[in-house]
Amino acid sequence: PPLYKQRYQFVKDLVGKYKPKKVADLGCADCTLLWMLKFYNCIEVLAGLDICASVMKEKMHRLYPLPADYLQPSERSLTVTLHHGSVAHEDPCMLGFDLVTCIELIEHLEESELEKFPEVVFGFMAPNMVVISTPNSEFNPLLPGVTVFRHQDHKFEWDRAQFQSWALDAAKRYGYSVEFTGVGNPPTGMEDVGFCTQIAVFVKKYPQTSEPAQSKKPTEAAYKTVFRAVY
Ligand code: SAM
Repeated sequence: PPLYKQRYQFVKDLVGKYKPKKVADLGCADCTLLWMLKFYNCIEVLAGLDICASVMKEKMHRLYPLPADYLQPSERSLTVTLHHGSVAHEDPCMLGFDLVTCIELIEHLEESELEKFPEVVFGFMAPNMVVISTPNSEFNPLLPGVTVFRHQDHKFEWDRAQFQSWALDAAKRYGYSVEFTGVGNPPTGMEDVGFCTQIAVFVKKYPQTSEPAQSKKPTEAAYKTVFRAVY
């Protein structure tokens, strides 16, 4: 299957395994991953964030309940919201999540945004689990036609050592453990280059058993809510 489907499948497998109730997708683009996740019964809250409102709105109608959702209401409640804003800013709507996914997002961030990203995601949002995927530049020589970056909009592409040292540093600073994996197997004989997409899975070391002490967190909104559906 194409690489983007393998990335979505990776997240779906994690959701199937850990059964998070609240999932936020940062850099959700046209909301395809959110749309796939709405079929998981464990999920009660889904939220998307993107800096580009128009791409988020393209197919967001898919996130409205279907006739069947009204005719045969399920036991679980599901709330889906989409927010327009940047991962460089903190907004209380992103508090209290079990899983935060950032699929092919960080390589699109400007240096100043990337600098703020760990504090926003690990420090402020502080979910139990974070998944971050990004291209593995060591794979690029195997991709036809790739001279500098895989996409024009990429601000950087990291090799495994660069990504892992960045991720380990963030994990250490904010009390997470991190494991590395990926999707997109290298061809036989070329295993040394690693996966085409590298993935880090972070797990909070000391998960909060009760509701997080949100009182110390700022309450002012930085994002604009552009979509809300309650099933
Ligand atoms: N996650 C999706 C996927 O895997 O199909 C889309 C990834 S797309 C390559 C990167 C997305 O990140 C774009 O939709 C872009 O608008 C968004 N983005 C870029 N900078 C951002 C920022 N500072 N805050 C939130 N989203 C951002």
